[in-house]
Amino acid sequence: MHFVEVILPLSLAKTFTYRVSEAEFHFVKNGMRVVVPFGKSKMYTALIIGKHQNEPLLYEAKEIDQILDENPIVTQIQITHWQWIASYYMCAIGDVYRGAMPSALLLESETIVSQKQSVIIEENILSDEEYLVYQALQQQSSLRIHDITSILNKKNVFPVIQRLIDKNVLVLQEEVQELYKPKWVRYVRLHSRYHSDSGLGDLLDALKGAAKQREIVLTYFQLNAKENHPISVKQLIEVANSSSSIVKVLIEKEIFEEYFIQEDRINFQGNAQEAALELSKAQQQACDQITSHFETKEVCLLHGLTSSGKTEIYIKLIEEQLASGKQVLYLLPEIALTTQLVGRLRTYFGDKVGVYHSKYSNNERVELWKQVLEQSTKAQIVIGARSALFLPFSNLSLIVVDEEHEQTFKQVDPAPRYHARDAAIVLANAHKAKVLLGSATPSIESYFNAQSDKYGLVEITERYGNVQLPEIELVDLKDSYFRKKMTGHFSEALIEAITTSLSLGEQVILFQNRRGYSPIMECLTCGNVPHCQQCDVSLTYHQHKNQLRCHYCGYAMAKPTQCHSCSSIDLATKGFGTEQIEQELITIFPDAKIGRMDQDTTRGKFGFEKIIDSFKNQEIQILVGTQMLAKGLDFNNVSLVGIMNADTMLYHPDFRAFERSFQMMTQVAGRSGRSEKRGKVVIQTYNPNHNTIQQVTNNDYIGMYKEQLYDRQIYKYPPYFRLIKLTLKHRDFDKLKEGAMWLYQVMSQNLALPVLGPEEPPISRIRNEYIRTILIKIPQTTPIGSTKKTIQKMLTSFEAVSQYRAIKVAVNVDYY
Ligand code: ADP
Ligand code: ZN
Ligand code: ZN
Repeated sequence: MHFVEVILPLSLAKTFTYRVSEAEFHFVKNGMRVVVPFGKSKMYTALIIGKHQNEPLLYEAKEIDQILDENPIVTQIQITHWQWIASYYMCAIGDVYRGAMPSALLLESETIVSQKQSVIIEENILSDEEYLVYQALQQQSSLRIHDITSILNKKNVFPVIQRLIDKNVLVLQEEVQELYKPKWVRYVRLHSRYHSDSGLGDLLDALKGAAKQREIVLTYFQLNAKENHPISVKQLIEVANSSSSIVKVLIEKEIFEEYFIQEDRINFQGNAQEAALELSKAQQQACDQITSHFETKEVCLLHGLTSSGKTEIYIKLIEEQLASGKQVLYLLPEIALTTQLVGRLRTYFGDKVGVYHSKYSNNERVELWKQVLEQSTKAQIVIGARSALFLPFSNLSLIVVDEEHEQTFKQVDPAPRYHARDAAIVLANAHKAKVLLGSATPSIESYFNAQSDKYGLVEITERYGNVQLPEIELVDLKDSYFRKKMTGHFSEALIEAITTSLSLGEQVILFQNRRGYSPIMECLTCGNVPHCQQCDVSLTYHQHKNQLRCHYCGYAMAKPTQCHSCSSIDLATKGFGTEQIEQELITIFPDAKIGRMDQDTTRGKFGFEKIIDSFKNQEIQILVGTQMLAKGLDFNNVSLVGIMNADTMLYHPDFRAFERSFQMMTQVAGRSGRSEKRGKVVIQTYNPNHNTIQQVTNNDYIGMYKEQLYDRQIYKYPPYFRLIKLTLKHRDFDKLKEGAMWLYQVMSQNLALPVLGPEEPPISRIRNEYIRTILIKIPQTTPIGSTKKTIQKMLTSFEAVSQYRAIKVAVNVDYY
């Protein structure tokens, strides 16, 4: 008898054994997908990770339904890496598999497919079976896989569906509501009628009486001769100093025809820049040091000031790898993955750059998966958010982790709760590749590893072009309020600085770590603050919609006119957010063009990029935003950054609060004065003498590091201790309390380690589920493997207690 061992895309820690025929046994390889029945009537796409002849003892092995792949689409290195993730982060291998693959490669019987909108299908590319499915979708907007089974009257339809997805006919239902619309840019080219030379004479004749139209056409010819990339309507209008209505006329006359290209997918016909990149002396030195560290070390930390030109150093190092035909992975926090950066890399590497992140459609992700698998040059460099780590690299030689201190590299929910930086180091090891971590404000952990000689350390202490770091001015809010030198939330000093910048035609960024108009609404009579009914948080006032909203579950209600508790009409808003800052700005600077960037304004189609673009194009003079602003954006006309209130960050109840405040303020400050002129930063705070604020002001990373390290050692936190956080959730308050106590007691009795809790977190109820946490601290010197085994055992016995079975427990290893 012949068997395969497979991973199912479910939250199951075990692998499963299925039967195959002898012929299949010889055909299949690890890393191929098979369709298997599971449970009563479900079908899943499983992954083969082994073959053998050992019949399972506890259950009767079912037969596989079908083999989906001709060749493995997952490599052995990936399988091993995923197993490491499951074991290190204490989650099911099925969770990793499910999280790692684009869902279009994981069809299951419950999958719903629909026809892809706005593509024209050439019916002759479809086989008979494919055509039947296509036709059925003309009648119905979506189909379940088992509907398709009956349409085709055969059991296994996964391959047909997969082919239809590959042919861009179908998409998975979950994507239909997808928010992200890739940006389509409008281009023009000469209508095909004029492609012959004889046509051109006619064309210019025809335009004799229309000077403006003629002007545009001539400009088009000039641009076309000079540049070998598509000519956008925007560019054409700018260069010809004309208007879009004239372009429209030319399109109507069939002189031009318009077409659209998705902006970040423009096909650079290999025109990687001719002017090779020249590194400054400091950059070259850093580059050499990194290379020499790589001779003896796997990981190197590049600590370089904001705007020291780290990106160019990455580019230089990547260049060297490409020359030898190797693959490179460039990881970035999701939000920093803007067209700005992608564009910068494409300037150097042309069409060798593939992009991978959550806003990309499934079909695009599948395409990139295949390119990486085939080692196509089109994806020789992959820029991606943390999930790009799961791609099927086989020839990886360098991983760059940019902004390595960013907490978004750690996945919070769902499992696998992995840290992409740390998982990248393990992955690199398997490939014998090197890892370069880069940041202006490294995480304490990474800097510690560099200090203890585990990683190489390279520092750049000057900005590119010797631009000075911005001058930082602290404004004491207590004093300003006392002297009545405040207009709303703006100190006199900040208003003056803004006035100066605006008068010089320069731009301003204002940072406020909260969105909304004002965090809370309070009754002045009884002190009541409206709370979310489902979550343990106060509601946030959004002036724009005149609503109170919950930022955790999305619940919204109209702003009350009376207190719900005492009916008083004396209601006031307290605290402040981005929206209120924007409102106040409009009053103080009525003529300035003001923009706002936060989760509310960037939600829409291409909201984020739209705002970045208009700021870059100087259509916005003052940009108000949350921490989104801090992420590696490079604007050269910003001369002032204002931090509205530094204290909210400092007093966040978390052991990393000071480290994060330092990083956040330093990064935001770094947006100021990136060109010749020295920039300015105004920080408003009630605590100007706070150590962290002083460290930001003096650009004293080392001071911050030493102080934090000292605290971490005393209070038993990373890098001296590893943390495992257990989060328990249940709708029944008493049951949860009891269960959490049970688990806590078992843990503290069985682990000779500090166990804290069970604690009610600051937000102790979300979406009607109560929350308790337990924190386990494990000294770095304790073997982690056996400790995790013990913890796992206790979790298993917790699950076995019948009255606690419904309590959900999430395990977060190296909680961030
Ligand atoms: P960092 O990532 O360290 O904050 P960047 O890589 O964004 O800094 O560089 C800051 C600015 O300096 C960018 O506008 C970049 O284009 C420019 N720059 C850096 N190095 C060079 C170089 N070698 N040649 C030309 N421009 C450079
Ligand atoms: Zn009241
Ligand atoms: Zn809520």
